[in-house]
Order: sequence, then C-alpha cells, then structure tokens
Amino acid sequence: MDLFNESTDWEKALRPLITKYKGKQHPLHYHNLYQLMVMVVLSAQDSDAHINKIAPAFFEKFPDMKALAKANTAQLTELLSEVRFHGNKITWLQEIAEEIKEDKNIPKTMKELTALKGIGRKSANVIMREAGVEPEGILVDLHVLRVAPRLGIAKGKDATKIEKQLMEKLPKDMWGEIGMAISFLGRETCRPTNPKHSECIVSNVCEYCLLHNK
Ligand code: SF4
Repeated sequence: MDLFNESTDWEKALRPLITKYKGKQHPLHYHNLYQLMVMVVLSAQDSDAHINKIAPAFFEKFPDMKALAKANTAQLTELLSEVRFHGNKITWLQEIAEEIKEDKNIPKTMKELTALKGIGRKSANVIMREAGVEPEGILVDLHVLRVAPRLGIAKGKDATKIEKQLMEKLPKDMWGEIGMAISFLGRETCRPTNPKHSECIVSNVCEYCLLHNK
C-alpha cells in the first residue's frame, strides 16, 4: 500500500524535526574533528555510550592525528581491547593516521572521506555535518533505517537506497540536519519496540501510524 509517497509534502512535514533537534549535541561526546573521526570508526557495531566511556583515556594518550600516527598496535590494543572488532578498527585508524598525518588535513568531502578505511557514507555524513560543510548526502544510521520506512518517506532496508530516496524527496538545505533529526526521533520516540506514537511530532504524516490506526 502506497499511501503517502506521491502526495506528502515531506519538506513541510519533516521541518518540525529539524526545529526540534537542531543544535542538539551529537551522541558521541567528541571535542574536535580528530576525536569525532576516531569515535565514528570505533562506534561501528558498538554503542555510542561505550565509545564515550573509553574515549577520554584514549585521547589523553593520543590527543591528535600526529600522536595516533606514531602509535603501535600493542599500545592501541591496550586501550581499545573492549571495542567490538577492535582488530580491524585499529588497522583502519593506523592507516587513516598514516595517510592524514595531521588534524588540519582531515578531509571534508564525501569522496575524500569515503576513500579512507573504515569511513562509509554514514560516517562521512556525520563528519561533514559536524565540520559545518555543505552536505553531499543524508545521514542514515540504524535509527533512520528503521524510522524512514515507518514514516513512509522511503522503502527497503538498504542504507544507500534509503539515503537516495531521502535525497530525492527533501531539498538540499535540509540534508545536513534531517538525518540526525530522524535519528534522534528514533532514539527518543520511534523505538524499535513500542514506539511512542502519542508523543511523536510527525505522527500526522506517519504511514505506520495511519496503517495501524495509532
Ligand atoms: S508516529 Fe509512531 S511509528 Fe510514526 S514516526 Fe512517530 S513514533 Fe514512529
């Protein structure tokens, strides 16, 4: 059943999410772009809360890209052994540091960021948003992957395809903020089980709500 895809004015419908969440602190507690880059690599298939916990000790020892580039595998393993898939992530961080060398060289375009090991479109979109540069895509994390199809703005389970549909339906001036805003909605309201429809500020346009009579 395709209730809204053609008729809904998604730009108008989803602007309230941007108003609500714009400026809200990112769930990863970073203090600069170097820290964010390291933390997005580490947080893949781990939790933001866990990475926030181990980050202070890591950054005390490796405060910038220069220091990271000099780190050996044993030193990194000592601090990151509890991170899921830390072996691969350590290799990626070493390759990134070797390539970038200094914080000032951290790239800010989709092409350059996704050319780095361990950085996909999702991470690149997060880094570009936090760097304040013009967006080239829309952040699609696990929450957006769940919420966008519930809303009816996108179909499927593939992040790249969901991102493409969001980009087709929303104007570019919304790209930088809307991914994180939908993600926050997913974290706070549109939970995997028992979504809080009655508290949801976009329930009036939500396909899931209409179909399930919520
Ligand atoms: S109305 Fe319910 S299903 Fe739709 S986005 Fe809001 S919480 Fe999620």
